[in-house]
Amino acid sequence: MRGSSDASVLNARPRRSAMVEKPRGLLPAFLPARPTGAVTLREPAREIPVLADVDVAVLGGGPAGVCAAAAAARMGASVVLVERYGFFGGTATAANVNIWHSLYGMDHKTPVIGGLAEEIVRRLQHDKAIYNQDPDGETGGWVVHTEAAKLVMDDLVMASGTKAMLHTWLAHAVLEGSRVTAAIVESKSGRGAIRARMFIDCTGDADLVRRVGLAVQTGNPQGVCQPPTLCFRVGGMKDGAKPLHEVQAELFKTPMDYNGQRYPCFLWGAMGVLDKHEVMIAGTRVTDVNVAVTDDLTRAEVEARYQMRWVLEQMRTMPGWEDVYLIDIGTQIGCRESHRIWADHQLTREELLSGQVFEDAIAQSCYPIDIHHGNEPGITFEHLDGTRRIVSGDRKTRMERWDGVPSGGPPRSTLCWTVPYRSLIPKGLDNVLVAGRCIGTNHDSAGATRVMINAMQFGHAAGVAAAMARASGDSRGVDVSKMRKTLTGHGMPLLDPSPGSPVPS
Ligand SMILES: Cc1cc2nc3c(=O)[nH]c(=O)nc-3n(C[C@H](O)[C@H](O)[C@H](O)COP(=O)(O)OP(=O)(O)OC[C@H]3O[C@@H](n4cnc5c(N)ncnc54)[C@H](O)[C@@H]3O)c2cc1C
Repeated sequence: MRGSSDASVLNARPRRSAMVEKPRGLLPAFLPARPTGAVTLREPAREIPVLADVDVAVLGGGPAGVCAAAAAARMGASVVLVERYGFFGGTATAANVNIWHSLYGMDHKTPVIGGLAEEIVRRLQHDKAIYNQDPDGETGGWVVHTEAAKLVMDDLVMASGTKAMLHTWLAHAVLEGSRVTAAIVESKSGRGAIRARMFIDCTGDADLVRRVGLAVQTGNPQGVCQPPTLCFRVGGMKDGAKPLHEVQAELFKTPMDYNGQRYPCFLWGAMGVLDKHEVMIAGTRVTDVNVAVTDDLTRAEVEARYQMRWVLEQMRTMPGWEDVYLIDIGTQIGCRESHRIWADHQLTREELLSGQVFEDAIAQSCYPIDIHHGNEPGITFEHLDGTRRIVSGDRKTRMERWDGVPSGGPPRSTLCWTVPYRSLIPKGLDNVLVAGRCIGTNHDSAGATRVMINAMQFGHAAGVAAAMARASGDSRGVDVSKMRKTLTGHGMPLLDPSPGSPVPS
């Protein structure tokens, strides 16, 4: 690819002649139209080995999958964890997304999240590989050293007794009636089957549920997904360099010139955990793609890397940033949204923003609805305190209320929202649970549930439920109040249900 081996991409002070050469005309030709699926062939049937026969099979080893596997294994279940990369952590490690939100509620005083999510934070603290954005305490968001996170995830999985299968893809699944009986996986060893009583889909994109042919929701009601973002790390800022937030503001003023198109620049980042001369930059966004579609994903990866080169060029014009160099690029572009399951309960925006505490609540959080617009610039946040913050493409911010209270009126006092166990149960399947960003929500509520500390909680709960259901193989037969007590025993500070909250049937 032209220019791809040019050292100026990596190193500071590029020679003018060696600046990014934009591949005009390359992408459209390289990008075939979305396949219609009209042409098919029949794959011959064949015998494949059964690689494992376990109580619980967890597919996908991201924040949700690691917690699901560890929770189930700690409860005595035999567990297999299948992950396509060579390490765990998903978006937190593979996509360089290194900010995790607060463990506290809206009052910044009450812990609302504990359990395995907190345990992972504490392990990283022990390794001095995480810091809190609250300079005087720990009620803010956390910034994580992504490589250290890989090690902590290894420890969590291996010490639990889970059998890990890395570099292994979930390719297909066998459905008999309303039960999945085997996950079919592919790896360098070839194709094989994993039999289990319970399956937990933690692929982020509902791969297992889609492979057995169930319908899913995709993106917003028009099918447009939140844009993916490639995150990369740079180093080499000088002491006294222009602060990151000022660099962000400067860059927002200039439309990103990419491939003949001019996008408003999008950029946020976090200073390094171990070295303040390093920064993670989430400074790209590719619109109108669904990264669970291979052609879209390919376009997004390549396009985002060209955007990144533009961002690097611009950064090097800032005082103190002249010598900035590229450290690394996420193994994959980060996905905010693709597919979601249809669940026994589809968590709505209204339930979330009103802070309803469900009778079968298994997770809680105060992260706002955070929606990056899929096919236009800007982000809309809806907070539990009643405010809506709209950040436009030129980074201007408009504040309003979503609850009808006049602007400047008293804030709502909601501490956090909750997620019912039923939102982890895909309709039509008896022995499958889903954890992570693809649980049963809608486009709006997913804007809040999708973040990693939440994915860890859903994983923890799904692991506990799957372990409890391993004899019956029936996710709906789990004693919900016993499960909530178990989670509380694991350090999850679950609130008492709201009066009148619907009792799960
Ligand atoms: C740019 C960006 C910024 C974000 N900012 C934040 C933030 O500040 N804080 C925050 O907490 N969250 C943030 N998020 C959201 C968050 O990172 C994800 O929504 C979250 O990681 C979802 O967790 P998950 O476990 O469901 O999925 P993932 O993290 O995607 O994990 C899924 C795992 O499954 C594996 N997998 C997938 N398919 C298969 C398969 N077929 N076979 C085998 N393995 C498979 C993947 O390799 C991966 O390890 C951000 C996301 C993006 C893209």
